[in-house]
Amino acid sequence: MTNKLSRLLIVMPCYNEAEILPSTADKMEKLLEKLIKDGDVSSDSKICLVDDGSKDGTREIIRNLCRKKKCFSLLGLSRNFGQQEAILAGLFHQDADFYVTLDADLQDDPTVIKKMIAKAKEGADIVYGVRNNRDCDGLFKKFTALAFYKLMRLLGVKSVYNHAEFRLMSRRAVEGVKQFPERNLFLRGIVTLVGFKSAEVFYKRLPRLSGDTKYSWKKMAALAWNAVSSFSVVPLRLVTFAGFMMCLVSLLFLGLMFYWWANGQTVHGWFSLVTIITVFSSAQLLSLGVIGEYVAKIFVEVKKRPLYIIDEDSDEISQNITKK
Ligand code: UDP
Ligand code: MG
Repeated sequence: MTNKLSRLLIVMPCYNEAEILPSTADKMEKLLEKLIKDGDVSSDSKICLVDDGSKDGTREIIRNLCRKKKCFSLLGLSRNFGQQEAILAGLFHQDADFYVTLDADLQDDPTVIKKMIAKAKEGADIVYGVRNNRDCDGLFKKFTALAFYKLMRLLGVKSVYNHAEFRLMSRRAVEGVKQFPERNLFLRGIVTLVGFKSAEVFYKRLPRLSGDTKYSWKKMAALAWNAVSSFSVVPLRLVTFAGFMMCLVSLLFLGLMFYWWANGQTVHGWFSLVTIITVFSSAQLLSLGVIGEYVAKIFVEVKKRPLYIIDEDSDEISQNITKK
Protein backbone atom coordinates (compact mmCIF):
# COMPACT_ATOMS: atom_id res chain seq x y z
CA MET A 1 0.00 0.00 0.00
CA THR A 2 1.21 3.48 -0.84
CA ASN A 3 0.54 6.51 1.29
CA LYS A 4 -1.13 8.30 -1.58
CA LEU A 5 -4.58 9.53 -0.59
CA SER A 6 -7.56 7.97 -2.32
CA ARG A 7 -9.64 9.96 -4.74
CA LEU A 8 -13.33 9.93 -3.83
CA LEU A 9 -16.19 10.53 -6.23
CA ILE A 10 -19.62 11.18 -4.74
CA VAL A 11 -22.32 10.45 -7.33
CA MET A 12 -25.69 12.08 -6.75
CA PRO A 13 -28.63 11.48 -9.11
CA CYS A 14 -30.86 14.55 -9.40
CA TYR A 15 -34.31 14.64 -10.92
CA ASN A 16 -36.28 17.88 -10.52
CA GLU A 17 -34.37 18.75 -7.36
CA ALA A 18 -34.05 22.53 -7.94
CA GLU A 19 -35.73 23.26 -4.63
CA ILE A 20 -33.35 21.25 -2.48
CA LEU A 21 -30.14 21.32 -4.54
CA PRO A 22 -28.64 24.61 -3.27
CA SER A 23 -28.76 23.46 0.36
CA THR A 24 -27.60 19.95 -0.58
CA ALA A 25 -24.65 21.35 -2.54
CA ASP A 26 -23.70 23.59 0.35
CA LYS A 27 -23.72 20.73 2.85
CA MET A 28 -21.87 18.36 0.54
CA GLU A 29 -19.20 20.92 -0.29
CA LYS A 30 -18.50 21.44 3.43
CA LEU A 31 -18.49 17.71 4.03
CA LEU A 32 -16.01 17.07 1.22
CA GLU A 33 -13.79 19.93 2.39
CA LYS A 34 -13.69 18.35 5.84
CA LEU A 35 -12.86 14.91 4.47
CA ILE A 36 -9.99 16.46 2.48
CA LYS A 37 -8.79 18.45 5.49
CA ASP A 38 -8.87 15.37 7.73
CA GLY A 39 -6.74 13.52 5.21
CA ASP A 40 -9.44 10.92 4.48
CA VAL A 41 -9.46 11.56 0.75
CA SER A 42 -7.32 13.36 -1.83
CA SER A 43 -7.82 17.02 -2.72
CA ASP A 44 -8.99 16.22 -6.27
CA SER A 45 -12.04 14.33 -4.91
CA LYS A 46 -15.29 15.49 -6.44
CA ILE A 47 -19.06 15.52 -6.27
CA CYS A 48 -20.64 14.45 -9.55
CA LEU A 49 -24.21 15.72 -9.88
CA VAL A 50 -26.03 13.68 -12.51
CA ASP A 51 -29.00 15.55 -13.94
CA ASP A 52 -31.46 12.86 -14.97
CA GLY A 53 -33.32 14.96 -17.54
CA SER A 54 -34.91 17.36 -15.03
CA LYS A 55 -37.62 19.72 -16.21
CA ASP A 56 -37.11 22.38 -13.54
CA GLY A 57 -34.00 24.52 -13.07
CA THR A 58 -31.80 21.68 -11.79
CA ARG A 59 -29.41 21.71 -14.78
CA GLU A 60 -28.83 25.45 -14.55
CA ILE A 61 -28.17 25.25 -10.81
CA ILE A 62 -25.57 22.51 -11.36
CA ARG A 63 -23.96 24.47 -14.22
CA ASN A 64 -23.60 27.49 -11.92
CA LEU A 65 -22.12 25.36 -9.15
CA CYS A 66 -19.55 23.90 -11.56
CA ARG A 67 -18.62 27.37 -12.79
CA LYS A 68 -18.02 28.63 -9.25
CA LYS A 69 -16.60 25.59 -7.48
CA LYS A 70 -14.15 23.06 -8.76
CA CYS A 71 -15.34 20.31 -6.44
CA PHE A 72 -18.55 19.87 -8.48
CA SER A 73 -19.00 18.32 -11.88
CA LEU A 74 -22.12 17.98 -14.00
CA LEU A 75 -23.22 15.01 -16.02
CA GLY A 76 -26.45 15.76 -17.85
CA LEU A 77 -28.48 12.93 -19.36
CA SER A 78 -30.47 13.47 -22.55
CA ARG A 79 -33.82 12.63 -20.88
CA ASN A 80 -35.20 11.08 -17.70
CA PHE A 81 -33.71 7.57 -17.58
CA GLY A 82 -34.34 6.80 -13.92
CA GLN A 83 -32.34 6.86 -10.71
CA GLN A 84 -30.57 3.55 -11.31
CA GLU A 85 -29.33 4.59 -14.75
CA ALA A 86 -28.31 8.04 -13.50
CA ILE A 87 -26.19 6.43 -10.78
CA LEU A 88 -24.49 4.14 -13.30
CA ALA A 89 -23.80 7.05 -15.63
CA GLY A 90 -21.94 8.80 -12.79
CA LEU A 91 -20.09 5.67 -11.68
CA PHE A 92 -18.91 4.73 -15.16
CA HIS A 93 -17.93 8.19 -16.24
CA GLN A 94 -15.09 9.24 -14.00
CA ASP A 95 -12.11 7.49 -12.59
CA ALA A 96 -11.73 7.37 -8.79
CA ASP A 97 -10.47 5.04 -6.06
CA PHE A 98 -13.74 5.06 -4.16
CA TYR A 99 -17.27 5.92 -5.24
CA VAL A 100 -20.14 6.86 -2.95
CA THR A 101 -23.67 6.99 -4.32
CA LEU A 102 -26.13 9.17 -2.46
CA ASP A 103 -29.61 10.65 -3.12
CA ALA A 104 -29.77 14.39 -3.67
CA ASP A 105 -32.39 14.96 -0.95
CA LEU A 106 -29.86 13.89 1.74
CA GLN A 107 -32.40 11.63 3.45
CA ASP A 108 -29.45 9.31 3.91
CA ASP A 109 -27.07 10.86 6.41
CA PRO A 110 -23.96 11.98 4.45
CA THR A 111 -21.83 12.29 7.60
CA VAL A 112 -21.70 8.47 7.56
CA ILE A 113 -19.41 8.70 4.49
CA LYS A 114 -16.45 9.15 6.85
CA LYS A 115 -17.24 5.81 8.48
CA MET A 116 -17.64 4.23 5.04
CA ILE A 117 -14.19 5.41 4.03
CA ALA A 118 -12.74 4.02 7.26
CA LYS A 119 -14.29 0.62 6.48
CA ALA A 120 -12.98 0.79 2.93
CA LYS A 121 -9.50 1.50 4.23
CA GLU A 122 -9.82 -1.57 6.44
CA GLY A 123 -10.27 -3.56 3.24
CA ALA A 124 -13.98 -3.56 2.34
CA ASP A 125 -14.72 -3.11 -1.37
CA ILE A 126 -18.40 -2.45 -0.81
CA VAL A 127 -19.80 -0.62 2.21
CA TYR A 128 -23.60 -0.65 2.49
CA GLY A 129 -25.40 2.19 4.18
CA VAL A 130 -28.19 0.58 6.19
CA ARG A 131 -31.10 2.51 7.71
CA ASN A 132 -31.84 1.53 11.25
CA ASN A 133 -35.23 3.20 11.31
CA ARG A 134 -38.14 3.96 9.04
CA ASP A 135 -39.83 6.47 11.34
CA CYS A 136 -40.13 9.12 8.66
CA ASP A 137 -41.81 6.79 6.16
CA GLY A 138 -45.59 6.52 6.01
CA LEU A 139 -47.34 3.32 7.06
CA PHE A 140 -47.93 2.29 3.45
CA LYS A 141 -44.30 2.76 2.45
CA LYS A 142 -43.13 0.86 5.55
CA PHE A 143 -45.45 -2.02 4.78
CA THR A 144 -44.67 -2.23 1.05
CA ALA A 145 -40.93 -2.00 1.71
CA LEU A 146 -41.07 -4.80 4.27
CA ALA A 147 -43.20 -6.96 1.97
CA PHE A 148 -40.73 -6.31 -0.85
CA TYR A 149 -37.67 -7.41 1.17
CA LYS A 150 -39.49 -10.50 2.43
CA LEU A 151 -40.65 -11.41 -1.08
CA MET A 152 -37.15 -10.99 -2.47
CA ARG A 153 -35.76 -13.27 0.23
CA LEU A 154 -38.48 -15.82 -0.47
CA LEU A 155 -37.62 -15.77 -4.15
CA GLY A 156 -33.98 -16.38 -3.40
CA VAL A 157 -32.67 -12.92 -4.34
CA LYS A 158 -29.85 -11.72 -2.13
CA SER A 159 -30.17 -8.10 -1.02
CA VAL A 160 -29.18 -6.20 2.09
CA TYR A 161 -32.20 -5.48 4.31
CA ASN A 162 -33.05 -1.76 4.58
CA HIS A 163 -30.27 -0.72 2.24
CA ALA A 164 -31.17 1.51 -0.71
CA GLU A 165 -28.69 3.24 -3.01
CA PHE A 166 -26.43 4.74 -0.34
CA ARG A 167 -23.17 2.80 -0.57
CA LEU A 168 -19.46 3.03 -1.11
CA MET A 169 -17.78 1.01 -3.82
CA SER A 170 -14.11 0.61 -4.61
CA ARG A 171 -12.81 0.99 -8.14
CA ARG A 172 -12.69 -2.77 -8.66
CA ALA A 173 -16.25 -3.20 -7.34
CA VAL A 174 -17.42 -0.65 -9.93
CA GLU A 175 -15.41 -2.51 -12.58
CA GLY A 176 -17.29 -5.61 -11.43
CA VAL A 177 -20.66 -3.88 -11.90
CA LYS A 178 -19.53 -2.84 -15.41
CA GLN A 179 -19.22 -6.48 -16.36
CA PHE A 180 -22.95 -7.05 -15.93
CA PRO A 181 -24.53 -6.42 -19.31
CA GLU A 182 -28.04 -6.36 -17.81
CA ARG A 183 -30.63 -3.97 -19.17
CA ASN A 184 -33.22 -4.68 -16.49
CA LEU A 185 -31.54 -2.72 -13.80
CA PHE A 186 -31.79 -3.46 -10.14
CA LEU A 187 -28.49 -2.17 -8.83
CA ARG A 188 -28.93 -3.42 -5.27
CA GLY A 189 -29.18 -6.95 -6.60
CA ILE A 190 -26.22 -6.61 -8.96
CA VAL A 191 -23.92 -5.16 -6.30
CA THR A 192 -24.45 -8.17 -4.04
CA LEU A 193 -23.57 -10.43 -6.98
CA VAL A 194 -20.26 -8.63 -7.54
CA GLY A 195 -18.85 -10.19 -4.40
CA PHE A 196 -15.62 -8.97 -2.69
CA LYS A 197 -15.42 -8.11 0.97
CA SER A 198 -18.32 -6.00 2.19
CA ALA A 199 -19.24 -4.11 5.35
CA GLU A 200 -22.22 -2.20 6.69
CA VAL A 201 -22.61 1.15 8.39
CA PHE A 202 -25.84 2.18 10.10
CA TYR A 203 -27.59 5.53 10.08
CA LYS A 204 -30.92 7.14 10.85
CA ARG A 205 -32.94 7.97 7.76
CA LEU A 206 -34.20 11.56 7.80
CA PRO A 207 -37.32 13.01 6.22
CA ARG A 208 -37.01 14.87 2.89
CA LEU A 209 -36.28 18.53 3.73
CA SER A 210 -38.20 19.98 0.81
CA GLY A 211 -39.75 18.98 -2.49
CA ASP A 212 -41.70 15.78 -3.08
CA THR A 213 -40.52 12.25 -3.64
CA LYS A 214 -39.43 11.75 -7.26
CA TYR A 215 -40.49 8.14 -7.05
CA SER A 216 -44.09 7.89 -8.16
CA TRP A 217 -45.99 4.70 -7.32
CA LYS A 218 -45.59 3.73 -10.97
CA LYS A 219 -41.80 4.08 -10.80
CA MET A 220 -41.62 2.20 -7.49
CA ALA A 221 -43.79 -0.66 -8.75
CA ALA A 222 -41.67 -0.82 -11.94
CA LEU A 223 -38.48 -1.05 -9.86
CA ALA A 224 -39.94 -3.78 -7.66
CA TRP A 225 -41.12 -5.80 -10.66
CA ASN A 226 -37.73 -5.30 -12.31
CA ALA A 227 -36.07 -6.62 -9.20
CA VAL A 228 -38.23 -9.74 -9.14
CA SER A 229 -38.32 -10.47 -12.86
CA SER A 230 -34.67 -9.87 -13.61
CA PHE A 231 -33.28 -11.64 -10.55
CA SER A 232 -35.62 -14.54 -10.09
CA VAL A 233 -37.16 -17.20 -12.31
CA VAL A 234 -39.25 -18.40 -9.38
CA PRO A 235 -42.51 -16.83 -10.65
CA LEU A 236 -42.14 -18.71 -13.93
CA ARG A 237 -41.24 -21.91 -12.15
CA LEU A 238 -44.36 -21.49 -10.01
CA VAL A 239 -46.45 -21.48 -13.19
CA THR A 240 -44.74 -24.64 -14.40
CA PHE A 241 -45.18 -26.19 -10.96
CA ALA A 242 -48.87 -25.21 -10.86
CA GLY A 243 -49.35 -26.78 -14.30
CA PHE A 244 -47.62 -29.95 -13.17
CA MET A 245 -49.72 -30.18 -10.01
CA MET A 246 -52.87 -29.67 -12.07
CA CYS A 247 -51.80 -32.51 -14.37
CA LEU A 248 -51.50 -34.80 -11.35
CA VAL A 249 -54.83 -33.67 -9.93
CA SER A 250 -56.52 -34.14 -13.27
CA LEU A 251 -55.11 -37.68 -13.51
CA LEU A 252 -56.54 -38.53 -10.09
CA PHE A 253 -59.78 -36.88 -11.10
CA LEU A 254 -59.84 -38.94 -14.28
CA GLY A 255 -59.49 -42.15 -12.31
CA LEU A 256 -62.27 -41.10 -9.97
CA MET A 257 -64.57 -40.17 -12.82
CA PHE A 258 -63.82 -43.39 -14.61
CA TYR A 259 -64.86 -45.21 -11.44
CA TRP A 260 -68.12 -43.19 -11.21
CA TRP A 261 -68.77 -43.71 -14.90
CA ALA A 262 -68.18 -47.47 -14.68
CA ASN A 263 -70.65 -47.63 -11.80
CA GLY A 264 -73.21 -45.72 -13.80
CA GLN A 265 -73.18 -42.75 -11.40
CA THR A 266 -72.72 -40.02 -14.01
CA VAL A 267 -75.06 -38.12 -16.30
CA HIS A 268 -74.43 -38.93 -19.96
CA GLY A 269 -71.77 -36.61 -21.51
CA TRP A 270 -70.52 -35.19 -18.21
CA PHE A 271 -67.48 -37.45 -18.05
CA SER A 272 -66.11 -36.50 -21.46
CA LEU A 273 -66.78 -32.79 -20.91
CA VAL A 274 -65.03 -32.56 -17.55
CA THR A 275 -62.17 -34.72 -18.80
CA ILE A 276 -61.51 -32.44 -21.74
CA ILE A 277 -61.63 -29.29 -19.61
CA THR A 278 -59.27 -30.52 -16.89
CA VAL A 279 -56.74 -32.20 -19.17
CA PHE A 280 -56.53 -29.32 -21.62
CA SER A 281 -56.41 -26.52 -19.06
CA SER A 282 -53.61 -28.16 -17.09
CA ALA A 283 -51.67 -28.92 -20.27
CA GLN A 284 -52.06 -25.31 -21.36
CA LEU A 285 -50.82 -23.97 -18.05
CA LEU A 286 -47.87 -26.34 -18.09
CA SER A 287 -46.81 -25.34 -21.58
CA LEU A 288 -47.32 -21.65 -20.79
CA GLY A 289 -44.90 -22.04 -17.92
CA VAL A 290 -42.31 -23.75 -20.09
CA ILE A 291 -42.64 -21.15 -22.85
CA GLY A 292 -42.42 -18.44 -20.21
CA GLU A 293 -39.03 -19.78 -19.10
CA TYR A 294 -37.65 -19.32 -22.58
CA VAL A 295 -39.33 -15.99 -23.27
CA ALA A 296 -37.88 -14.61 -20.04
CA LYS A 297 -34.38 -15.65 -21.08
CA ILE A 298 -34.72 -14.15 -24.56
CA PHE A 299 -36.31 -11.02 -23.15
CA VAL A 300 -33.38 -10.37 -20.86
CA GLU A 301 -30.78 -11.08 -23.52
CA VAL A 302 -32.03 -9.29 -26.62
CA LYS A 303 -32.77 -5.80 -25.33
CA LYS A 304 -29.29 -4.39 -25.65
CA ARG A 305 -30.46 -0.82 -25.45
CA PRO A 306 -28.15 1.84 -24.01
CA LEU A 307 -28.77 2.38 -20.32
CA TYR A 308 -28.32 6.13 -20.60
CA ILE A 309 -27.22 8.79 -23.08
CA ILE A 310 -25.03 11.69 -22.01
CA ASP A 311 -25.99 15.13 -23.20
CA GLU A 312 -23.67 17.39 -21.22
CA ASP A 313 -20.42 16.84 -19.32
CA SER A 314 -18.86 19.72 -17.39
CA ASP A 315 -15.43 18.06 -17.34
CA GLU A 316 -15.36 17.77 -21.10
CA ILE A 317 -16.41 21.41 -21.46
CA SER A 318 -13.65 22.59 -19.10
CA GLN A 319 -11.10 20.40 -20.89
CA ASN A 320 -12.11 21.93 -24.24
CA ILE A 321 -11.79 25.42 -22.81
CA THR A 322 -8.26 24.76 -21.49
CA LYS A 323 -7.27 23.16 -24.83
CA LYS A 324 -8.42 26.27 -26.72
N1 UDP B 1 -34.16 10.31 -9.10
C1 UDP B 1 -33.60 10.30 -10.38
N2 UDP B 1 -34.40 9.95 -11.42
C2 UDP B 1 -35.71 9.59 -11.26
C3 UDP B 1 -36.24 9.57 -9.95
C4 UDP B 1 -35.44 9.93 -8.89
O1 UDP B 1 -32.42 10.60 -10.57
O2 UDP B 1 -36.36 9.28 -12.26
C5 UDP B 1 -33.28 10.70 -7.96
C6 UDP B 1 -33.83 11.81 -7.07
O3 UDP B 1 -33.49 13.08 -7.56
C7 UDP B 1 -33.16 11.49 -5.73
C8 UDP B 1 -33.05 9.98 -5.75
O4 UDP B 1 -33.17 9.58 -7.11
O5 UDP B 1 -31.86 12.05 -5.67
C9 UDP B 1 -34.11 9.30 -4.90
O6 UDP B 1 -35.37 9.81 -5.20
P1 UDP B 1 -36.42 10.19 -4.06
O7 UDP B 1 -35.74 10.85 -2.92
O8 UDP B 1 -37.51 10.97 -4.70
O9 UDP B 1 -36.95 8.74 -3.64
P2 UDP B 1 -37.49 8.28 -2.18
O10 UDP B 1 -36.43 8.69 -1.20
O11 UDP B 1 -38.77 8.99 -1.97
O12 UDP B 1 -37.63 6.80 -2.32
MG1 MG C 1 -35.58 10.47 -0.98
